[in-house]
Amino acid sequence: MHIILIGAQGSGKGTQAELLAKTLNVRHVSSGDLFRKAFAEQTELGIQAKAYIDRGELVPDALTVSMILDEIQSLHGIQGTLLDGFPRTVAQAQALDRGLQRIGQHVDTAVYLAVPREELLKRLSGRIICRAHQHVYNIYTHLPRTTGVCDIDGSELYQRSDDAGPAVQRRLDIFFNETIHVLDYYGAQHRLIEVNGNRPAEQVQTTILQEIQHSLTPTALFSAPLPHKMLTGEADSPYSGFPS
Ligand SMILES: [Zn+2]
Repeated sequence: MHIILIGAQGSGKGTQAELLAKTLNVRHVSSGDLFRKAFAEQTELGIQAKAYIDRGELVPDALTVSMILDEIQSLHGIQGTLLDGFPRTVAQAQALDRGLQRIGQHVDTAVYLAVPREELLKRLSGRIICRAHQHVYNIYTHLPRTTGVCDIDGSELYQRSDDAGPAVQRRLDIFFNETIHVLDYYGAQHRLIEVNGNRPAEQVQTTILQEIQHSLTPTALFSAPLPHKMLTGEADSPYSGFPS
């Protein structure tokens, strides 16, 4: 089972990805993390990708797809992936489909976390992250227990420069001008779930799980049964009460 999570910066994508990966027993694959890992381990693909970046060029889609396929093929005892941060363009979505097809797999569904632009701006301007692991907090919606300190690892919290000012507008422009077309791509193939992301995180999560359950074909359900906890709400996530 391969699920794509699409959402603008500030849409709550990271939070939803973590919860979904746990509940569905799929690997959360963020393209940013994949690159960082490939560079650090100096894999062949990592070295190739770094050469493009060092020249100030974009990493070709086929190369990124190869990294994702490598990751998928290295999974053991995990039912699939939740892709986050890729594809960002229709060309990337097509490249991903071709790559998955080569290994006899496919994208089951794409989930779009819809949040109005004004709300995204507000959330991003309040966002603070930790230095050690980029855990995310928000001065409006999700304060740490101790001011300025990460609950999880105790490292310092700060605001990223691209979460403030014109950089935020630019990132949202890219999303609403470009990535939004990826929705049409999956929508035309009836592989898109649109969820109202402008609600508390636990409600968003419940809706996503219900919609995924409805969208999976009987074949997909048969080959990759959903964990019992997903159907009953006995998840080991902080949320409960998922209706059966
Ligand atoms: Zn942290």
